[in-house]
Amino acid sequence: MKFHDAHCHLSNKDFMKDFDISTSMEKWKNSGLEYVIGVSSNISESYKILEMSKEFKRIIPGIGIHPWKAKTQMKEELKAEFKQIINDNEIIVIGEIGLDHHFIKREDRYSYQEEYFRFFLEQAEKNSLPINIHLKGAEEESSDILTSYKIPSENILIHWYSGPKKVFNQFLERDYFFSVNPSVLTGSTHIEVLKKAPLNRILTESDGNVKYTIDNVKVTGSPGIIPEVLSKIEEIKNIELEELSVILQKNIRIYANLASDKI
Ligand SMILES: [Zn+2]
Repeated sequence: MKFHDAHCHLSNKDFMKDFDISTSMEKWKNSGLEYVIGVSSNISESYKILEMSKEFKRIIPGIGIHPWKAKTQMKEELKAEFKQIINDNEIIVIGEIGLDHHFIKREDRYSYQEEYFRFFLEQAEKNSLPINIHLKGAEEESSDILTSYKIPSENILIHWYSGPKKVFNQFLERDYFFSVNPSVLTGSTHIEVLKKAPLNRILTESDGNVKYTIDNVKVTGSPGIIPEVLSKIEEIKNIELEELSVILQKNIRIYANLASDKI
């Protein structure tokens, strides 16, 4: 059975401490991993994931600046670096980008978050690139901002949504993708996304190296955890695993603009 991971911090230092990428990629591949989108939180992780994606064809590189890292105005040189990366690489995802007004309490940073977010949305719009979005505690603000960019709905992925129902319904109407996270195994409210989002708009993600407590056991997120998420989707959506796997593999190709296979 094939699966994907649409949001994993593969090039994060802590992740690389927990997992040796070569042996892990081999192991995940043998258990069915087709594609993994390696998202980045800063410029060095962005360069690292590009390098990793050249070595491992199953890795789709995600480049960006996480809203937690938006602490000052965005420097022109940094914008130029990202534009260059986009120019030089054909298969690429923009992420992890977005807004966070929940974990970041310092309101003086919110305008910087917005500046970064808008910069990346503009690049996605201009270059027809998929985006991987974090919008914790700023769901309404993000929703409004998204409407001002012409990015096709199938290229918009809302990662680990757990915000207000009203915004969730707007996103459902706009036909965005949602990634279902291992927190559906922990009794989180995120399960509402799995219950309500249609199967043709669902992707799966680990958000590695986030740690989850599943049945009293601490587990580090990685593509290796996705089969457990699939079992939960199978149960909630009442669908056979094989059929589900086919739908999800089609979804990741649509979302990531994989007209022809990378592997
Ligand atoms: Zn993440």
